[in-house]
Amino acid sequence: MPEKPRRKDVRPPQKCIFCQGGGTSGNKMSDEHLWSTWLARTGLIPLLSEHVELRGTKPRNSNPVISKFDKQGGAQTKRVKVVCTNCNNTWMSRREKDVKPYLIPLIKGEKADLTEIAQTTIAQWIFMKVLVAENDVYRHYAPDPIFNQITRDSFRISGKIPKGVKIGIGIHTGEEKWSLGFQRHAAGLISSPTPPEPSFNNLRPKNIQTVTWGIGKLIIYFSAVLDPGMERILTWNPDWPLIQIWPRSVLIRPWPPTRTFHPTAIDRLAAALEEFIFHNDPIWMA
Ligand SMILES: [Zn+2]
Repeated sequence: MPEKPRRKDVRPPQKCIFCQGGGTSGNKMSDEHLWSTWLARTGLIPLLSEHVELRGTKPRNSNPVISKFDKQGGAQTKRVKVVCTNCNNTWMSRREKDVKPYLIPLIKGEKADLTEIAQTTIAQWIFMKVLVAENDVYRHYAPDPIFNQITRDSFRISGKIPKGVKIGIGIHTGEEKWSLGFQRHAAGLISSPTPPEPSFNNLRPKNIQTVTWGIGKLIIYFSAVLDPGMERILTWNPDWPLIQIWPRSVLIRPWPPTRTFHPTAIDRLAAALEEFIFHNDPIWMA
């Protein structure tokens, strides 16, 4: 049976996902834009007046259940209230400032050299945004992050990106859909020689995640597994026109890549994890 949404709205956390502070008069919780405000101001992304958010769950042995939320304002106005003002105005804002010179040519599709420092700075900024996005609250649903507090702490303190994270970037033909598009998929898979006990209401902790994110002409593909044994699920297809920036390469990677993503190819990329889950039910890994 599909999970019946609880009527009561899930409230956003009252504490910062990074420092666990905030929610006080001296340090209020703060809105973090997924598409940073400086991106909207540069005119590099389309400014739309509305967007739709879809939340899908895939209960065991049944079809996915999709909930649709119509939202006022384009996706560029999307805000997630999971960080405190202190974090937002200090180390997070430094990461925004640091990434700008590296990110802007990518979004415009202009020539750039992806040096080691460029790859690292861009990857860290993407990881910061993923940590924020995965803690987003949808009306009836609690967040389903795969990363824990230890990971968030070490990222906040030292910028460390954990093992199992892979990030690639590519360029697309520039249609509106992916110039301002964001898709995140997460699943809870079990590595076991025998099929596991059924989980109640699909509430197994999520341990694998993909994010496909379009900003202007740039396409970002992020994949992460917590269990290294599951890396093969997220094997990247060598035909995808992606330049891997994390784990980074010591070689300078030229930008833009020679091949361009077609929108349908991005759709397929974004749906890859969902496809896998749909065709492998129940999910367990021998
Ligand atoms: Zn904080």
